[in-house]
Amino acid sequence: MTDVRIGHGFDVHAFGDGDHIMLGGVRIEFGRGVLAHSDGDVVIHALCDALLGALALGDIGRHFPPSDPQWKNADSRAFLRHCNGLLRARGWKLGNADITVVCEQPRIGPHVDTMRAALASALDVATDVISVKATTTERLGFTGRGEGIAAHAVCLVVRE
Ligand code: MG
Repeated sequence: MTDVRIGHGFDVHAFGDGDHIMLGGVRIEFGRGVLAHSDGDVVIHALCDALLGALALGDIGRHFPPSDPQWKNADSRAFLRHCNGLLRARGWKLGNADITVVCEQPRIGPHVDTMRAALASALDVATDVISVKATTTERLGFTGRGEGIAAHAVCLVVRE
């Protein structure tokens, strides 16, 4: 087997009532919240699925079932630390990750570096291996109509 593997993850949450959203482990003040069992952090959920995907370990729903009350309002950074632990236990670590947030609002740019630092801290890697970007969908589709927020993540994992 090779010494590198790639993974991909994608996540969506609908907006609902609330006054903030969690993204990349960072609280962002906003006129809406997200509908979710956990804290609804699409960046972390997509990244967890990318990490799990790289090692063919299933998906976040299998490891943290929404039906399990212990994950109600969970801080998604715990999911990320758990997924990272699964990697490390098997002799792998994150090489780099590239994440794209898709929404019209809130504005993501001002929070990108804070998110990168928070994700790097949770994964115990250098900040410069974590990329967070953002785009809109030009007002098209569910993100364009402001109905929700999405995130894509790809990662490379390497042998420790
Ligand atoms: Mg999710």
